[in-house]
Amino acid sequence: MTMIFEELSQPILRTDASGLPIEWINFRHAVKLYYLDVVLYECGSELLTLHGGVNAVSGIRSELKINSIIATDSGIAAKNKLLNDYTPPLTNNALFQRDFHLCMYCGSRFMKSELSRDHVTPIVHGGKDEWNNCVTACKRCNQHKGSLTPEQANMKLIAIPFTPNHAEFIFLQKKRILADQMTFLRAHFPRTSPLHRRIEESLNI
Ligand SMILES: [Zn+2]
Repeated sequence: MTMIFEELSQPILRTDASGLPIEWINFRHAVKLYYLDVVLYECGSELLTLHGGVNAVSGIRSELKINSIIATDSGIAAKNKLLNDYTPPLTNNALFQRDFHLCMYCGSRFMKSELSRDHVTPIVHGGKDEWNNCVTACKRCNQHKGSLTPEQANMKLIAIPFTPNHAEFIFLQKKRILADQMTFLRAHFPRTSPLHRRIEESLNI
């Protein structure tokens, strides 16, 4: 199959039949889902067009258009992951994204290599390694804080850590998100999500 791509690297947002976001997939995965005939409907914008061979009988060239958001019926229901007690896995990448690469103590923005995971209540003081007790901190602030609590170290957090829901977690997994994908995901964020303000602030920069 000869393929002409407009955009190959842009991740595609896959949802379940009811439109709840499931995961990011690449275009190869999306093509497979189209050919398996499990794409129920599309949202967002047309992302890329794949051109196949010319049909010997009809003379028509086959074409497959792939959208930025596709709803699939493949037995995967996202509902469980949108329940209140779902906790996405805590990774440094997602944590730094949650905090928009800002040190939650000095407020400066850093490259990933300059950042670290800080336990607000240190593990030695009974703090847990979970979203609500973890913040992004620059290595300098983290070292300065050491094994003290913010109060003991006299360091104030600029924002309260929070546990993302599944839609927020999907958002945190990718850096390149199209405007329509962003709007779609934000519709599934809690109304009070701090990410709304962080996204708006970053768009204003
Ligand atoms: Zn800092």
